[in-house]
Amino acid sequence: MSIITIYNTFHATECRLNVDWSRADGEGLMPLTHFQYLRCRRILCGSHDCDCGGPLKDRGVQEVEIYQTQNSRTGEYGASVQRRLRTID
Ligand SMILES: [Zn+2]
Repeated sequence: MSIITIYNTFHATECRLNVDWSRADGEGLMPLTHFQYLRCRRILCGSHDCDCGGPLKDRGVQEVEIYQTQNSRTGEYGASVQRRLRTID
C-alpha cells in the first residue's frame, strides 16, 4: 500500500488515498473504489454545482494521472488513477 495525495488548488484542499498498486494493470492503471471516489470528491469540493475540477474534483498538478470511468452495467461514475512514468535523467 502507498498513499497518494490528490490536490484541488482552487479550494486549497487535499485528499489522501490508500492505493494498492499491486491491483493495477500492466500499464499502472488502477480503479479506485466507489467509496474512495465519493470521499475524494466530498473532501476536495463539497459543492455539487461547482465546476472546479476533474473527475475527483482535482485541480492543479497531481502526483498521478486521473481518469473518469463509468460502470457499463450500472452507469455509475468512478475514477482510475495511474502512476506517472518516471522520466529518465
Ligand atoms: Zn469546487
